Amino acid sequence: HDLGVIAGLCERVMVMYGGRLVEQGPSEQIFADPKHPYTAALLEAVPRVDVVRERLRFIAGQAASPGDEITGCRFAPRCDHALDGCSSERPILVTSGERAVACIRDGEVGFLPQPVARTTPSPVPAPAVEAVRRPGDDSDLVMDVRGVTRHYPEGRGRRRTTVRAVDGVNLDVRRGEFLSLVGESGCGKSTLGRLLVGLEEPDSGSILLDGRDASGLSSKTLRQRRRSTQMVFQDPRSSLNRRMTVGDQLAEALAQAGVSRPQRAAQVAQLLDQVGLPAEAATRLPIEFSGGQAQRIAIARALGVRPSVLVADEAVSSLDVSVKGQIVNLLRDLQESLGLTIVFISHDLGVVRQVSDRVAVMYLGQIIEVQPADELFADPRHPYTQSLLSAIPIPDPVIERQRTRIVLTGDVPSPTSPPPGCRFHARCPVGPSFDPSRSRCRTEVPALVGGVACHFAHVEGGQDA
Ligand code: ADP
Ligand code: MG
Repeated sequence: HDLGVIAGLCERVMVMYGGRLVEQGPSEQIFADPKHPYTAALLEAVPRVDVVRERLRFIAGQAASPGDEITGCRFAPRCDHALDGCSSERPILVTSGERAVACIRDGEVGFLPQPVARTTPSPVPAPAVEAVRRPGDDSDLVMDVRGVTRHYPEGRGRRRTTVRAVDGVNLDVRRGEFLSLVGESGCGKSTLGRLLVGLEEPDSGSILLDGRDASGLSSKTLRQRRRSTQMVFQDPRSSLNRRMTVGDQLAEALAQAGVSRPQRAAQVAQLLDQVGLPAEAATRLPIEFSGGQAQRIAIARALGVRPSVLVADEAVSSLDVSVKGQIVNLLRDLQESLGLTIVFISHDLGVVRQVSDRVAVMYLGQIIEVQPADELFADPRHPYTQSLLSAIPIPDPVIERQRTRIVLTGDVPSPTSPPPGCRFHARCPVGPSFDPSRSRCRTEVPALVGGVACHFAHVEGGQDA
């Protein structure tokens, strides 16, 4: 389902929908000139790092399953271009040269929208980092993470070690911002997310919420604090009760927020409306909903508690491309309409590119770069961020063939024994292995200055050596 990888790897593409082949052909042609409306819609829906959109596209309606009794084209109920004949007549796969398409409108000129302009992204000059950092202005500071660590013991006896999952994180979260947390699997994103919402306590350091530390609070204020940060997870069903109706679960959340019983029913309907579900959804069980709808319910449940910060941990990662955009748009809408602060944890940089105000990059338990999103994607400063961005597959075979990737040597070191100095030094393409004058990277831990934790990011041309 990863169209970026397909674009970089495959010569021929076959597109299936609802158990049937709808289109096939050489990759380059499929990506540049899709002929089936489903292929075209799918390509439009993929969030890409090189195209920024105000709203993400998606395919409305629910995917057909092979068991559905559909006489005509299986995609017709969701197709923006369907004609009367589409639902009565099963389209046959018509081959023409290297291409084959199953759509009765194939051959009509210009009925499908043209694919987005595909140009190699050109770096735009970044404004001075200091200008957006507003030093000293803390009036919009919601969370202040200072030197936070979270270590886990692993193994037993002589083989006992410590996993330094989060290891000295400093981060400011601003009111109403959409802050993304990115980095490779295992770098500590989820652990940091759990620390932010208070599901876990830091071993050292502090997390101030609205200027207050959790330690020393009475249990009542601690409960209030827990409520004001909520989390949604990758699998929405894991945070929903299977046996309780959606309405009862939302009412429970509202009760936690202190909403009185008589007011709850109306507010349940309001919550469902906020996440784009009909009021009737209240009477049903979570199992009756699709993955995308279940995620809406999980979000509604989190909102019911009236949080000021919502941490979404890979909340759209397992959703199909066709519905992913809807949930991302929903989060963005909630951020704007409710003034909600969102910490969005994701390994999908295409999505992150679309929605974030700021992006924090993690590597081995630490934040190595944090910048406004536009700057980070246009002009990444840390060599690790540069390599991470250069590795994102773009769903376009032409671009994929021309791109140069920064290929890192060596594996990600284990979080049980992170390297001394800069944790990235041994793999760094501009580090001490390549430039002996940069030996301090081996011993001195770089501080996060101007949003970058690199001894040489501030040197003129430091990253281009
Ligand atoms: P990410 O979300 O970026 O993939 P995680 O925060 O889940 O990373 O994990 C960071 C590191 O901490 C990994 O090495 C993981 O195995 C370890 N880890 C996470 N949670 C636990 C836990 N409860 N017990 C032991 N190790 C853990
Ligand atoms: Mg994770």
